[in-house]
Amino acid sequence: MKAISVLGSTGSIGTQTLQIAEEFPDQFKIVALTAGKNLDLVIKQIETHQPEVVSLADESLLPELSRRINNLTEDTKILKKPLLMAGAEGLNTAASWESADLVVTGIVGCAGLLPTLAAIEAGKDLALANKETLIAAGPVVIPALKKSGSRLLPADSEHSAIFQCLQGTPWSDTARLSTGVPTPGFKSIQLTASGGAFRDWKAEDLAKATIKDATSHPNWSMGKKITVDSATLMNKGLEVIEAHYLFGLSYDQIEIIIHPQSIIHSMVELDDSSVLAQLGWPDMKLPILYCLSWPGRLKTPWPRLKLTQVGNLTFKEPDTKKYPCMELAYSAGRLGGTMPAVLNAANEKAVELFLEERFKFIDIPKVIEAICEKHKCDLNLNPSLNEILAIDSWARKEVLDYSGKNITRIAVSD
Ligand code: NDP
Ligand code: MG
Repeated sequence: MKAISVLGSTGSIGTQTLQIAEEFPDQFKIVALTAGKNLDLVIKQIETHQPEVVSLADESLLPELSRRINNLTEDTKILKKPLLMAGAEGLNTAASWESADLVVTGIVGCAGLLPTLAAIEAGKDLALANKETLIAAGPVVIPALKKSGSRLLPADSEHSAIFQCLQGTPWSDTARLSTGVPTPGFKSIQLTASGGAFRDWKAEDLAKATIKDATSHPNWSMGKKITVDSATLMNKGLEVIEAHYLFGLSYDQIEIIIHPQSIIHSMVELDDSSVLAQLGWPDMKLPILYCLSWPGRLKTPWPRLKLTQVGNLTFKEPDTKKYPCMELAYSAGRLGGTMPAVLNAANEKAVELFLEERFKFIDIPKVIEAICEKHKCDLNLNPSLNEILAIDSWARKEVLDYSGKNITRIAVSD
């Protein structure tokens, strides 16, 4: 029985992790949950999973959570009242909870950074969904992993595909995972991208893109932020940096290829020209399950992949003019140090403002580029955690300043 702590239990990754725990009650037990502010859902989750500790990001909701849990405990719907916590301390406690064997990082954005580090320091293995943490703080996260011996198992479908392909290679060495050491015989990887919400749009029409358009993904059902990242293809750019840190590859070894059906989840090319791929329906439960069951495989009743039902698998080069975010991510990754943190924070803030209708969709890459450009003269190649947190705040504030100026520009040009 593996004991699991789920950070971000009320989100897309979190709820799917809990569904897996319900499907395999003999294999997985949920011992810790954290949520943002979705009280109703977290209470249902507490009833179903009876965790030992629960934490909310929003401290003001703690008294109401406690009152409702007391009522449920009196009604014996909850057998033992969990420890209830809130804020950063609660998050870090859940992330490093003693009885947890594995921590699923399903929090969105850089808010996942400190609890991820807390889990690593406590020596927990991680199922990494929260890619922003690794992208912003790779220079701190990778040494922390080496020191603690924690293993970073990729839950992102593309990185899970690469990881699964590597399991079949003769040099497969689990100790190499997340240590950033390149593997002999391993030439390159191809990350597949669905092309996101606008894959069939003309570049000139993107100026008219609405929030509804950008948050309607053709293949995957995910949280809002990552769905917008898929529409800009920043998600794929972030995944390039994620792959660099996870597998120790240079940026020249990481390619992006558009594959609209999302059946091949990514590929590994070997020195002898052989290509290994992992296939499956576009459903995040499979990569999450693999993190939970690794190194084993569990038998599922899930729909089997039928290629005859899919019919065609197609591929094309990504259009870098239509999707400038990809190139921005490659450039930030190549510069390294604090630049990926700036790219990530600027993107998070720009997406947030887009979702509040304060930015146009096409302004997202423009503001990110402007802020990365501004940071070049202050680039720090070997930042500490505090320096990364400071640069993250700086970049968010820069986006806000830009948005102040930009609102005028939108009003004038409209
Ligand atoms: P969601 O928006 O669906 O869920 C986010 C979760 O984080 C919720 O539980 C939310 O709580 C919680 N949360 C939000 N803000 C904070 C905060 N400041 N502090 C603590 N908790 C917070 O996101 P997804 O599940 O889509 O994505 C989670 C991560 O996984 C992202 O990094 C994403 O890139 C990655 N990922 C997601 C995939 C997917 O299919 N969804 C695929 C691959 C990667 P509440 O709702 O209660 O407020
Ligand atoms: Mg992905």
